[in-house]
Amino acid sequence: MTRRRFIADEISEDRAALVGEHAGHLVRVLRARVGQDFDIATGDIVRRGRITSVADDRVDFELGEEVSGRFLAEITLALAIFKFDRMEWAIEKCTELGVSRIVPVIARRTDSHLAGASVKRVERWQRIARQASEQSRRVAPPEIAAPIKLREALNFQAALRIVLAELGERTRLRDAVQPRIAHDGIVLAVGPEGGWTKDELQSFQQAGWIPASLGNTILRAETAAIAAVALVASALDSL
Ligand code: SAM
Repeated sequence: MTRRRFIADEISEDRAALVGEHAGHLVRVLRARVGQDFDIATGDIVRRGRITSVADDRVDFELGEEVSGRFLAEITLALAIFKFDRMEWAIEKCTELGVSRIVPVIARRTDSHLAGASVKRVERWQRIARQASEQSRRVAPPEIAAPIKLREALNFQAALRIVLAELGERTRLRDAVQPRIAHDGIVLAVGPEGGWTKDELQSFQQAGWIPASLGNTILRAETAAIAAVALVASALDSL
């Protein structure tokens, strides 16, 4: 039987709790009762959790045996900031597909108002990622980092660093992903709505990133992010 999965807000030895608005969903929507069992993710493992007490903004669990989780390859998405509603859709879908970390990037063609407002948006993006992680039964949500400037992203360290480019000299993404290398960590960079500038693409290549294509049609940024993560996750067998 598939039990619903929650990511614990508090953990201590064989006890865990959901608190605040997170507990509220379980109490009011799912009508949680003492004695009910759920899967509780406690960092890197998942354990069976039996409800021991229920209050409006807190649900306590007694933790039992470990429940098996699935392997997720280390996939980082450096996502240039674009319209929030579509960016949040990409965050939700890439979380379901197994991305490990999402780093919002301020690129040259990122709208300056969005760049400014993005810092305050991170908490909401983390909530979206947590909800998508619970819905897709992940062991833990992806890290959603604070927005950074492109020049910082260029120096990311990973076994494989790929910049998705809709134009210019490129390798097909499926050919650029060498599982033997990518298993040690891969970063995918997706540009803003207006695309990367020529200089930015040159900077990526000078910093050792591989420019890759997702085909001949120009995809919206959120489509490119989802397609790239799905392709890599499948190539790394974590789907
Ligand atoms: N500047 C483009 C235009 O309007 O002609 C569109 C940029 S596209 C909406 C946003 C980002 O998605 C690009 O910077 C790139 O990272 C990615 N992307 C879109 N289509 C792609 C493709 N066919 N191959 C690789 N990346 C793609």
